Amino acid sequence: MTVVPHFISGSEYPSRSGRTAPVFDPALGKQTKEVALANQDEIKAAIASAKAAFPKWRDMSLARRQAIIFNFRELLNARKGELAAIITEEHGKVLSDALGEITRGQEVVEFACGMPHLLKGEYSENASTNVDVYSTKQPLGVVGIISPFNFPAMVPMWFFPVALAAGNTVILKPSEKDPSAAIWMAKLWSEAGLPDGVFNVLNGDKEAVDGLLTHPDVASISFVGSTPIAQYIYETAAKHGKRVQSLGGAKNHMLVLPDADLDLVADSAINAGFGSAGERCMAISVVVAVEPIADALIPKIVERIGQIKVGDGRRSCDMGPLVTKVHRDKVASYIDIAKTDGAAVVVDGREINPDGDANGFWLGPTLIDKVPTTSKTYLEEIFGPVLSIVRVKSYEEGLQLINSGAFGNGTAIFTNDGGAARRFQNEVEVGMIGINVPIPVPVAYYSFGGWKHSLFGDSRAHGEEGFRFFTRTKVITSRWLDPSHGGLNLGFPQN
Ligand code: NAD
Repeated sequence: MTVVPHFISGSEYPSRSGRTAPVFDPALGKQTKEVALANQDEIKAAIASAKAAFPKWRDMSLARRQAIIFNFRELLNARKGELAAIITEEHGKVLSDALGEITRGQEVVEFACGMPHLLKGEYSENASTNVDVYSTKQPLGVVGIISPFNFPAMVPMWFFPVALAAGNTVILKPSEKDPSAAIWMAKLWSEAGLPDGVFNVLNGDKEAVDGLLTHPDVASISFVGSTPIAQYIYETAAKHGKRVQSLGGAKNHMLVLPDADLDLVADSAINAGFGSAGERCMAISVVVAVEPIADALIPKIVERIGQIKVGDGRRSCDMGPLVTKVHRDKVASYIDIAKTDGAAVVVDGREINPDGDANGFWLGPTLIDKVPTTSKTYLEEIFGPVLSIVRVKSYEEGLQLINSGAFGNGTAIFTNDGGAARRFQNEVEVGMIGINVPIPVPVAYYSFGGWKHSLFGDSRAHGEEGFRFFTRTKVITSRWLDPSHGGLNLGFPQN
């Protein structure tokens, strides 16, 4: 069976650790590959490779660095179909959705091409008489990126274009569930002309992650994954003196006011709830319906669920399988939990007939009404195609519910009342807000990141904040000597 290797110093690096994890094709429900799990020697080799490549990459002119990033963008754009096929094969999402995630990642590559502007410093002439003060932005060194399974191309691309543009060298530790996209992108960087060692892929599990978190030659960690691991990453990396941005899980609510256009709401709830089988950190998992609209809205959602074609992502279906059998079964278990807790299961996704292999990890769109807010189905991140409806009496009750949650990644309000929407954007304690937009993922020149348990650290992904994260500032105070200056003065410098 093929073993997905590491990518170190510009080429594939077969593992000698003797440890591997299985990689599945979720639509076939069978293991198709193994992925190497790094040992200490391999962790050290990746870090040494990135460290050795750093000085030359840091000192390469902005114009030459920019040209390489442009090349990568051109190659990616021309060949994204290959990458989409890899994503569908290991993750399960449908091909059009895989292409969508690549396109959103490509936007960050395009944004990073503008880095000469974003890396400019400041200059103040005559801050004191004949003394100039200026600042420069310099790269950090070797940076670590640890990514989740659900966006094997886009999430790494939230970080590495910016990190590389700023002059850092990168070690990407992808999810062991779908590692091949990272290797494909590493090879594309080599083709684009990136010097060996500037972009490395280290496959592995907790051992590889801990190696990056604790090694003194790794300057920063960018993490995306579930909340308990995000918190662990934040605490451990910070304890080892690293700069860290750590994005966690989510439970995103869509607040629907009675004046909303219910057809738009039903379309949006379906797209945001069941796209990528609900395995998106910005998926809508709870519709908060302000009464009396729930009874009119639910039939519209049910009717649309009936039109969703679930099946193999290579067969023009709308929704693919879940990533593993373990995850599929965990997601399905929330349906019974909700039932036991008194909710009404309107559509049960276990009763489907997928267009795909019977062994695939299938679970169809599921709709559950009247979910008690004390139920685990409401409180926990399910990360699957299970959409809950919670009925509330007023805007205030809906807002209070959203603000009382542990997460604060994304949320949306659906209404035709501009005043209510404006009030919501001001009052809701969430990082990314949609107004009649169900998945408000910011464009590349803004930054992506939630609040509360959806983000540990103070730095979000991409945008200007991304460049701030991947650079450190130096301030230089400079005087070119004039013979008339000089003499002893032990006092504190004043202007
Ligand atoms: P995960 O937390 O299981 O894994 C993420 C990464 O951490 C992987 O690379 C994995 O190998 C590593 N990891 C797992 N367990 C570890 C441990 N004990 N110690 C050290 N490293 C460990 O997440 P996942 O299941 O791959 O991805 C889904 C989660 O990611 C969901 O919670 C989702 O909301 C979240 N997510 C968040 C965002 C965001 O922007 N906030 C975006 C995408 C996904």
